[in-house]
Amino acid sequence: MGMFDRIQHADPRIGCTKGHMLGELQTKDLDCDLADYNIRDDGMLWWERGGWKNPRSPRMPPLPAGVSGTLRADTGCETCERAGVGILDAWCEFDLAFEKGRLVSVTRAAAD
Ligand SMILES: [Zn+2]
Repeated sequence: MGMFDRIQHADPRIGCTKGHMLGELQTKDLDCDLADYNIRDDGMLWWERGGWKNPRSPRMPPLPAGVSGTLRADTGCETCERAGVGILDAWCEFDLAFEKGRLVSVTRAAAD
């Protein structure tokens, strides 16, 4: 039993409201076993490494991830936090929509 998975990316649409680039995201919408995923430059989501489950299991093919659907992913903006913004205000959530493993849209999630 894990808590989340990590998603690396270099997508400029994934930034805080002040425009700072955000790095690694976390999501609870995959297997939640501390695996590392990467959204590559062509938008494809790839499983990179990690996870407590057998990475060759049918549920989690090694590469690419091939998911369709929306993943909620979040992180805090470290730049804003260093500038003294409160951790709640620096928190950023996104809905990442995938079709057959390719990122098709990035939407800032509404604050709860
Ligand atoms: Zn920021």
